[in-house]
Amino acid sequence: MVKTSRVNQVILIIFDDIRASHMFELINSGKLPNIAELTKNGIVSNNCVTSYPSITFPCYGNIMTGSYSGYFPKEGNAVPQYHWLDRTDPPKVGKKPPFYRNYSDRSQVLKINTDIGKNVKTIFEQAPEGNMLSSFCFLYRGAHFVMPKVVSDVESIFKNISKGFTNPNIYFSNNEVPLISVGYVMHTDDIMHEKGFAHPDYINLIIKCDQYLGSLLETLKKTGYYDSTAIGIITDHGNFKADTVLNLEPFFEKNGLIPYNPKDGSGDFDVNFGSMGFFNFHGETWHHHPTQKELENYTVSRKGNNKINLIKTLWEIPGVKLMYYREDEFKPDNGQVNIFRKDEKTGKIFKGKIEYSGFGKEQKTKYSYDEMDIFGYDSYIKESYQNKACTIDEWLTLTNQIDFPIVIDQIPRYFKNPRSCDIIVSTLGEPVFNYEHGKTGGKSPFSHDIGLRKSIIVPFIIGGSPEISPMKLDYCKTTDMVPTLLDLLGISPHSSVVGKSVLNYK
Ligand SMILES: [Zn+2]
Repeated sequence: MVKTSRVNQVILIIFDDIRASHMFELINSGKLPNIAELTKNGIVSNNCVTSYPSITFPCYGNIMTGSYSGYFPKEGNAVPQYHWLDRTDPPKVGKKPPFYRNYSDRSQVLKINTDIGKNVKTIFEQAPEGNMLSSFCFLYRGAHFVMPKVVSDVESIFKNISKGFTNPNIYFSNNEVPLISVGYVMHTDDIMHEKGFAHPDYINLIIKCDQYLGSLLETLKKTGYYDSTAIGIITDHGNFKADTVLNLEPFFEKNGLIPYNPKDGSGDFDVNFGSMGFFNFHGETWHHHPTQKELENYTVSRKGNNKINLIKTLWEIPGVKLMYYREDEFKPDNGQVNIFRKDEKTGKIFKGKIEYSGFGKEQKTKYSYDEMDIFGYDSYIKESYQNKACTIDEWLTLTNQIDFPIVIDQIPRYFKNPRSCDIIVSTLGEPVFNYEHGKTGGKSPFSHDIGLRKSIIVPFIIGGSPEISPMKLDYCKTTDMVPTLLDLLGISPHSSVVGKSVLNYK
């Protein structure tokens, strides 16, 4: 089938850490006139669901590839989290600890370009030809021109894209304007964590970005490219503010748990814990994921009474309300994740499960529970959904108006990845700990990671060319952005893409 293109170029701007509701409040109050211009006759949703957990990595990489974490030797984009231990192939001999990735070390951040593996493709790689421009986008694999790898001032992110249209020869020897340009604004995330979403510095930076975008739109108009260009605006996740920030270190000390040392493989646990804790524990060695039995009877470094039941112990962390871990017989193509919720009044713990089968966009997941509805779906979903195997888009249709949208699909995608952790716990944003690998990193109450709407719902906007038919979408998902932009260019997405073009939404 030959596809026809509606536009000749696309530009995607990814902002880090802006909630849908905040962006649309600013649009509606006239503070973002240029983004407002794109919404006027464009494709718009104020209810776009990002990946779960709502953390930059994986959310950002998922936007760029249109795919999710998964069993990456076969499918999926291989980056489950900010931090991961590679436990893909347990070695039969040798004692070297497993490979350890930590993207919060800025020197490691660009390694994502090789970490995502060959099974997925960035938007740049999905186009068969044309010039590709990355403006401070740190997942740039496939781009022909990559902006200086150090993130400089915000204005230049937009200016560099403008130059692609005024002077393409400075980037591309064929002197043709970029087919696909992607700009990434991470500065909004830095200010959000430091000062919060209501701080004037955060809001003013978004307003400044709108002005820089205005200059870029002006350039497109002056050079005659505006009518043939689609401009996409999206963010990787929203955010929240916790009432309390607690120190997690006394919990580990009390239980005799020593942090993992990636250099020599010593220690009992590895975790990063904002309000969701991603715990790694050793199995037979640190190369092996532990079995449930091993977790329940875990040897810690403490002398004397050195056996603890980790599953029981982690419930003692202040504010923990949810817990997820793999069932032992966990296969890439089918298996089960055990999910639990603590009743905050009685302290009683209730069990549910997510069963999954299939890969990529074919993945189907079933949710069921014994007594308590773990995610509180029952009060909102009127049709019978328990024990029904649903695709990601079926979950999206069912859950897009409530908390924990599509998480039934997302949790197995996370755990299928051999680089994922062993136990996830969540306080649902109350409290936060800011704990990373043996250290507490600051006292900021502002964060993002949870499945509540404030953290997981983002804006989705595509405007510019009059060839784009205006559409108001009740919902969509972030992985739909890349296939939609490609669709506008007349390009079919790579088979690994789980999202779909919103032009095909009913
Ligand atoms: Zn982010």
